[in-house]
Amino acid sequence: MDTTTLVDWYTTHARDLPWRQPGTTAWGVLVSEIMLQQTPVARVEPAWLDWMARWPRPSDLAAASPADVLRAWGKLGYPRRAVRLREAAVVISLSHNDIVPSDVDTLLSLPGIGAYTARAVAAFGYGRRCPVVDTNVRRVVARAVHGAGDSGPASTNRDLADVDALLPADEPTAARVSIALMELGAMICTARSPRCADCPVYPVCAWQRAGRPAYTGPAKPVQRYAGTDRQVRGLLLDVLRDTPEPVLKARLDVVWADAGQRDRCLDSLLVDGLVEQTPDGRFALPGDH
Ligand code: SF4
Repeated sequence: MDTTTLVDWYTTHARDLPWRQPGTTAWGVLVSEIMLQQTPVARVEPAWLDWMARWPRPSDLAAASPADVLRAWGKLGYPRRAVRLREAAVVISLSHNDIVPSDVDTLLSLPGIGAYTARAVAAFGYGRRCPVVDTNVRRVVARAVHGAGDSGPASTNRDLADVDALLPADEPTAARVSIALMELGAMICTARSPRCADCPVYPVCAWQRAGRPAYTGPAKPVQRYAGTDRQVRGLLLDVLRDTPEPVLKARLDVVWADAGQRDRCLDSLLVDGLVEQTPDGRFALPGDH
């Protein structure tokens, strides 16, 4: 793949996202990467701006209560991310001088930081050369390099090696290639309808050269939301976010008719530390009583 053309394309076509502005700290990059997991950019953008204005350093977030953090997370979904991010902020402020670590292994040791996020922070926050592999990048590599219609099941070592092979030796340039690959997958080489006519790697794309063969790998799971435990957990948390006082269980019971599912979800929120029970049996966000 011609990574120079790819980076040139990124330079002129990339979305103007606030966490990509020059001067964004590695903390800002880390917050953006956590928020962007499973949540669309349009919803993350205002939340990220509010969050960074309120908690510009890890120590600022570490000093906030979990309840405030969960309220600020609002409707971004998967709220355990917010609690884990605060836990990471505590470790960064106490053990790393309030500076987000720059090497992948130290990043991986932080609460809630997985393989993707650690590499994304090293590359986008510090300009390091390290492969950053998300679903979009896997799809671009599957098509442009391997000539397949889509990516098959993830395989961490193979996926990292595939992307590593594309990165130039120069660290800042490699980091640009990493973010350009992600942008290409998000904006051009999309899952359902790739915009090949607008694609900077079209002339060398293996999928094009092979005559655009159909994807023949295993079917991908379809994610639904309505009726899932994730929806019910969200409804229960909405009640607690909207009140400064602990609530009786009856206030929670009205959000979902199926008592078995409702109670299972409330239990899981308690186990995850996203909800606490007061000594008198009411429910609240953690630290909110
Ligand atoms: S030419 Fe089409 S399939 Fe190939 S990388 Fe570009 S958008 Fe994807």
